[in-house]
Amino acid sequence: MNVLRTVDAVRAHLAPLRVAGTIGFVPTMGALHEGHAALVRAARQVSTHVVASIFVNPTQFNDPADLAAYPRQEAQDAALAAAAGVDTLFVPNVGDIYDPREQVNVEVQGAAVGFEGAARPGHFNGVATVCVRLFAIVGPHVALFGQKDAQQVAVIRQVVRDRRLDVRIEVVPTVRDADRLALSSRNVRLSKDERRRAQAIPRALAAGLVAASNGRDPSAAARAELRGLDVEYADVTTFDGAPTLVVAVRVGRTRLIDNVPLEHPELAGLAR
Ligand code: AMP
Repeated sequence: MNVLRTVDAVRAHLAPLRVAGTIGFVPTMGALHEGHAALVRAARQVSTHVVASIFVNPTQFNDPADLAAYPRQEAQDAALAAAAGVDTLFVPNVGDIYDPREQVNVEVQGAAVGFEGAARPGHFNGVATVCVRLFAIVGPHVALFGQKDAQQVAVIRQVVRDRRLDVRIEVVPTVRDADRLALSSRNVRLSKDERRRAQAIPRALAAGLVAASNGRDPSAAARAELRGLDVEYADVTTFDGAPTLVVAVRVGRTRLIDNVPLEHPELAGLAR
């Protein structure tokens, strides 16, 4: 696996590979886990050269404490990336992606409104901006994102459509731990007791699914399971035409999100 740190190095390295084959791209913020590995394995299936990036994108954090506390562990990440099948790992510095003189920004409406967009002002503009820039640097044929961040997928699809970007977006099902909590880089912050309480989240999604299939209200069923937790939202919304039960919960100081597309629960790693 090549580890490259500059825009020029990535461009020079990928130019011939893009002509000879296809490039699959997995953007991440590091603190890699099996969810990221699943994206890499899916990228391997659909491309000849797999690029992953590790960049803790400052513009998508609305809370400076969250940005400061975000886990950074490059050596461990590089080992996991190589084992999962990454060919080129791009680890830019903030200065490679952002320039104090810049004047062109990406602002997203539509899919970015509400839920995470409401809870984290500016978050999706930051996500869209970094993805547009990473796509421009890497030039992938296909980019892969996790269902875990369903609204992010909808935002990225909108950016790709509206900007006429020549990249295919693929979605990879949510990977869960044995207790069915969705893998997340933020889970390491949970105490043992918080972890136990967080297990109400997958239970809530499962209860929502059962309710939906019985003609009852999925969000009411989910909220009943989440009683006693600090629930930010537990609602049904539509992403790219797919009705999706979305949940955001604070457990202690950790904010967790999860979701299930009601007509395709397998995408959430939950059985029907
Ligand atoms: P992050 O590093 O958290 O920005 O995530 C990078 C990519 O991994 C995003 O496309 C996420 O949706 C995806 N991802 C994060 N957690 C999971 C998971 N548990 N299962 C599948 N994909 C995930």
